[in-house]
Amino acid sequence: MSKSEEPRILVVEDEEAIAQGLIFNLERKGYSAELALDGEVALEKATSQPFDLIVLDVQLPKIDGFEVCQRLRSSGNFTAILILTARDQPDDVIYGLKTGADDYMVKPFDLAEFLARVEGLLRRAEWSKSNVRPDSAAISSNSGSDSTETRLAFGNYWVDFKTWQAKTRDGLVELSRKELAVIKVFAERPNQVITRRELLDKVWELPNHPNTRVVDNVIVSLRKAFEENSWRPRHIHSVRGVGYRFVP
Ligand code: CA
Repeated sequence: MSKSEEPRILVVEDEEAIAQGLIFNLERKGYSAELALDGEVALEKATSQPFDLIVLDVQLPKIDGFEVCQRLRSSGNFTAILILTARDQPDDVIYGLKTGADDYMVKPFDLAEFLARVEGLLRRAEWSKSNVRPDSAAISSNSGSDSTETRLAFGNYWVDFKTWQAKTRDGLVELSRKELAVIKVFAERPNQVITRRELLDKVWELPNHPNTRVVDNVIVSLRKAFEENSWRPRHIHSVRGVGYRFVP
């Protein structure tokens, strides 16, 4: 979050009545809110100014919301994104989350719930920017450098919670926000069963989401990164019908 200032939120919405309503209510909560009426302006603003959160409608003139999200992520911009979709088909939602959004809401939505989601995302944005130092036996220091304090080492690999970098089978890569958050939940409770619901709750804040596929997708990419053989994982074990167990 911007230092000692109110959180800055970019609202991307082409229906002006909805946009003004959102901005009015965000400002009442003490946030600073700015409006973009189409995808092109959204990209311009998001890449030239720092925001703590982007509230992003899907159906937009010029460039749609999913593409805005995708372009931001591929350019290395990891600002938290809350997708607003009128299309409530599960496929769309999954697609939105896969393009790198952090959460989504289906329109029309309840204002109180919207503000609660915003608050949750801002809290997590702050959390992921802060120096994470989980109290866990899984955090080990395998070198003498300062980075070991924020580094989780397991097997031949490591994850750095501060820089988001990880040593993977493909060498040094930057993890996504979700991948990092899942690994952090694992690191806090090594060798224990962690349910998909728990991950949905902690990482996605969607405990009642009927589809746990989003979790499985992140697990697939983590296994690609950290398992020599995804079918016989060494670190990220499946617990059938329940969830996962992380073995450092
Ligand atoms: Ca729209």
